[in-house]
Amino acid sequence: MTKEYFTAENKKLKGKPIAIKDCICVKDMETTCSSAILKGYRPVFDATAVKKLKEKGYDIAGKTIQDEFGYGSFNLNVGTGYEIPKNPFDKQRTCGGSSGGSAAVVQKYSMPALAESTGGSIVCPAAFCGVIGLCPTYGRVSRYGLIDYANSLDKIGVMSKTIEETEKIYHIIKGKDENDSTSVSADDFEDKKIRIAVLKRLEGVENDVQLKIDETVRKLKSKGYVCENIDLPLNKKYALAVYYIIAMAETSTNLAKYCGLRYGTQEKIEGNFNEYFTKIRSMNFGKETKRRLMLGTFIRMAGYRDAYYIKALKVRKLLINEYKQVFKKYQIILCPTMPVLPPKISEIEKLTPMQNYAMDILTVGPNLAGLPHISVNAGFTRDLPVGVMFTADHFHERNLFRIARELE
Ligand code: GLN
Repeated sequence: MTKEYFTAENKKLKGKPIAIKDCICVKDMETTCSSAILKGYRPVFDATAVKKLKEKGYDIAGKTIQDEFGYGSFNLNVGTGYEIPKNPFDKQRTCGGSSGGSAAVVQKYSMPALAESTGGSIVCPAAFCGVIGLCPTYGRVSRYGLIDYANSLDKIGVMSKTIEETEKIYHIIKGKDENDSTSVSADDFEDKKIRIAVLKRLEGVENDVQLKIDETVRKLKSKGYVCENIDLPLNKKYALAVYYIIAMAETSTNLAKYCGLRYGTQEKIEGNFNEYFTKIRSMNFGKETKRRLMLGTFIRMAGYRDAYYIKALKVRKLLINEYKQVFKKYQIILCPTMPVLPPKISEIEKLTPMQNYAMDILTVGPNLAGLPHISVNAGFTRDLPVGVMFTADHFHERNLFRIARELE
């Protein structure tokens, strides 16, 4: 297996192989979130999802490369010492992020993987690598042993080449866990009749992507599904801003613990504590990580908290309500996963941070609302995969599997 996609590997594989994103703890296997600051960290325990998989005979093939701490949509923001993974269909292009390594491994080695999503990091790389990516309802899978990006948004999910395997692994890892108070033991709901709400084309969606989405809608209509156009005006206008405010605020508190004392990288302690931890953090965090920690800290400051963070929490509620209105009439929302085909790495390097963040326009909404969603391959254009995303109401993962099967 290639180092390009793995940050740590298990050379003595015995059971059924599964790859694990680098932010999910595996006992005795280096777990770094692809950051230099966690270099050398070997957890003394398994994340609950990993423990459950091992109990069912799975063996961990390795840890997969990701954007540092999950910050990105193209897996270009890797920490010092890590390689940027390349798309299995075209080495000049991105795998997507932040779970780029997991998606590439699924495509290349046909083994399943666990990944994590805060704002789209499962479905985005799944779409760009032409595999299935499931992000379950928030709380469905225990976050115990998942290294936090933003606690109110993080979910562990599954990537695979088949719906059957995705569903099987989902049932293994889900469930209430006493080590995670936000985990729940809800039933799996399913609707008899599925009506599909097709999201009206957003500005920025490339023609090549839209053509495949239109084809998918025609296919589903021919199978008897009612497909009607809808709009999500509040999400269109506010989801990106709300997401990046909440995600950055939460993550800036989560990363405060990395100060060179307890986990990972350590240096000779010189000077006072402030001088020591500033040195460790300056040397070991990447550029995007520093940007997010500074912005997040600013957003939470006493004078700005109400204007940004608290306001974002209120608007988040409105966005959730907008989805809930749609689910009164429809059971599935259909849209492209990403607005573009996997871009060339050289093109991404020219984007500003704001242009980077704008690529998440379709994926941040379901994540803010904690709604389950899945990306499935909708075909290829110019030999590159296009992903279609289905979103369902909370705890209605079964609706996702059913509709995804129609396209398999
Ligand atoms: N692209 C988004 C971000 O950078 C999503 C990342 C994720 O889901 N981990 O925050």
